[in-house]
Amino acid sequence: MNDNCLFCKIIQGQIPATKLYEDADILAFADISPQAPTHFLVIPKRHLSGPSAASEADEALLGKIMRVGAEIAKNQGVEQFRLVINNGAEAGQTVFHLHLHVLGGRPMTWPPG
Ligand code: AMP
Ligand code: ZN
Repeated sequence: MNDNCLFCKIIQGQIPATKLYEDADILAFADISPQAPTHFLVIPKRHLSGPSAASEADEALLGKIMRVGAEIAKNQGVEQFRLVINNGAEAGQTVFHLHLHVLGGRPMTWPPG
């Protein structure tokens, strides 16, 4: 728990969120400003600022975040989707608690902006 972290506050229930999945390790919730018809976030419950802060011990956790994100999308009938993790402000990260974006439901372009 990081007292200054928005997503830690969501995990603690101090800020509301539309939760899609929760277990002991991870939480998935709808993005408040969706950039596609399907847009939700999957986060570890333990505060990690981003992939750069992860260690070898976090490998299973990172894999789980991706697998569960894909499973939630599938359960929503979304078979084609994009997974994004922004690491650092220049990459577009605004909340410094690791989160996987799952975006789908519309055609995507490449490269990203
Ligand atoms: P990033 O720019 O990769 O750090 O993504 C942060 C994401 O968090 C953005 O897509 C925001 O729309 C989303 N976000 C910010 N505040 C909230 C909130 N209170 N509940 C849900 N999503 C949020
Ligand atoms: Zn946090």
